[in-house]
Amino acid sequence: MPSPSRSKLVSVVAPVFNEEEGIGEFHRRVSHAMGAFEHEILLVNDGSSDQTAARLAELAQADSNVRVVTLSRNFGHQAALTAGLELARGDAIVTIDADLQDPPEVIPELIQSWTDGADVVHAVRRARPGEPPVRLALIKVFYWLLGKIGDLRAYPGNSGDFRLLSRRAADALNALPERSRFLRGLVTWVGFNQEVVYYDREERFAGKSKYPYRKLAQLAIDGVLSFSVVPLRIASLLGLLVSATAALAVPLVVLLRMAGLYHLTGIASIHILILTLGGMQLVCLGVIGEYIGRLYDEAKQRPVYILMDE
Ligand code: UDP
Ligand code: MG
Repeated sequence: MPSPSRSKLVSVVAPVFNEEEGIGEFHRRVSHAMGAFEHEILLVNDGSSDQTAARLAELAQADSNVRVVTLSRNFGHQAALTAGLELARGDAIVTIDADLQDPPEVIPELIQSWTDGADVVHAVRRARPGEPPVRLALIKVFYWLLGKIGDLRAYPGNSGDFRLLSRRAADALNALPERSRFLRGLVTWVGFNQEVVYYDREERFAGKSKYPYRKLAQLAIDGVLSFSVVPLRIASLLGLLVSATAALAVPLVVLLRMAGLYHLTGIASIHILILTLGGMQLVCLGVIGEYIGRLYDEAKQRPVYILMDE
């Protein structure tokens, strides 16, 4: 156990979206884990529509370390975390999910690593009980891919958004102007001293995952497109490949024809060619479109979140 550091404030930031059943237990376990540290628990209500707001108000009433901020609607996990990171006052900031899948008991270890000089401490999960194997496999493939094509070689794959940031790392992160907040990528990107602490992920305490496959896929696409231009390069390569094939095939066909050796009259082959090329072109246009869409999003300069209450 780390020695309690009384002079430094540690913020624990949790995004909360419809967690009425679990939030009380979350607060209890965080408070217990943070007992030895001067701390604030910053709960970001991401537009919950159940009784979460009332639960949060009760917690703030009962515990002066609890701060609640409310977003004007549901902006999503990454946006809620962004809000929390910007509003936290701590010398170190721990971000953690409010559903108790990230065990608060690990926080003292993160703090210990920070005390030892780390700026970014990733809590990396070893086991993930209660999650479907297909989902885990997909997640694994995604991180492998991102490690390969993204500019994120230092990223310790199997980590979610459970981590500690030192004040300077958080300031650097908050200063990044981009609206698309793929935090686990950005956090790695800012650099400083990055450390890893291992833990076993637990099952959700209550309620169900707010990340259906659709949202998970969105997060994955966000990750790839914000940290890699490889999809664009693949489009260029495809184009080169097709052009090279054409450059070889066209003279060949002409020569064969002149020599009287080319007797194919098939319409089918033309169909196949048109479909293949048309398909490839549409896919490449789509890839370019994805990047342009993101440019458009960034150009609008809308805030990542809007606060309703502080
Ligand atoms: N969350 C949020 N806004 C959302 C979805 C989720 O603030 O739109 C919160 C949620 O309350 C939880 C954390 O983000 O504290 C992680 O969400 P969840 O557990 O649903 O994701 P999973 O663990 O299934 O990936
Ligand atoms: Mg969860």
